[in-house]
Amino acid sequence: MELTFLGRETGLAVNHTSAYFVTGNNELVVIDCSVSAFQKLKQLRLKDYTHIYVHITHTHSDHVGGLSLFVQYMYFTLHRVITIIAPSNTVKQDIKTLLSIEGCADDWFVITDVEKCNKNWVNASILTDHTPQLHGKCFGYSLSINGKNIIYTGDTNTLEPFEIDILGCDELYVDVAVGKSPAHLNLVEALEKFLEFASNGTKVYLMHLDNIQMAEEIVAELDGIELVQVE
Ligand SMILES: [Zn+2]
Ligand SMILES: [Zn+2]
Repeated sequence: MELTFLGRETGLAVNHTSAYFVTGNNELVVIDCSVSAFQKLKQLRLKDYTHIYVHITHTHSDHVGGLSLFVQYMYFTLHRVITIIAPSNTVKQDIKTLLSIEGCADDWFVITDVEKCNKNWVNASILTDHTPQLHGKCFGYSLSINGKNIIYTGDTNTLEPFEIDILGCDELYVDVAVGKSPAHLNLVEALEKFLEFASNGTKVYLMHLDNIQMAEEIVAELDGIELVQVE
């Protein structure tokens, strides 16, 4: 796994899905920041990284609920300004509003979007469907980490926007639910596709889990598909 996970559960659970990786320049790149992710990030040696970036997939609180706390912790405790990378200009405006409501000053953080950030680890954000309330504002990412092509779906109820990029990618991190939900991919229904990806050499990692035990049982005998593990 190129990503290290801080949590792998769904929004209504305890350890919200969030992950990070470290670049060759010793930059820390985090994907989403809930309160539970923030509590775990604090346990890393944050001052040792040359810079910290946070990619956001969408603005549900299990993905951004700890963002203002992280900004404030870094600014006031470690005297550092983190860079937030939004998946689109619209989401960037929403995040700025959110951080303003939560009492962050503009100069406590830098915010940019994928188009402008010019970072070699991110190829693109990928617009997907998740919930009607956030229509047009939910994204996954195509990433390059240590020479590997990675697709990270974020929260999604469809694989369609990702399929072209999944062809030839090394690792797919995908949101699934065991229970029926219009907001998330159903694990059983998506299995056939996952097996196809796995047979083409893409390792499939399941995240944002609503029922870890049942998900483990469903994929137990299947090659190339497994649950993400948390440190
Ligand atoms: Zn979520
Ligand atoms: Zn969500």
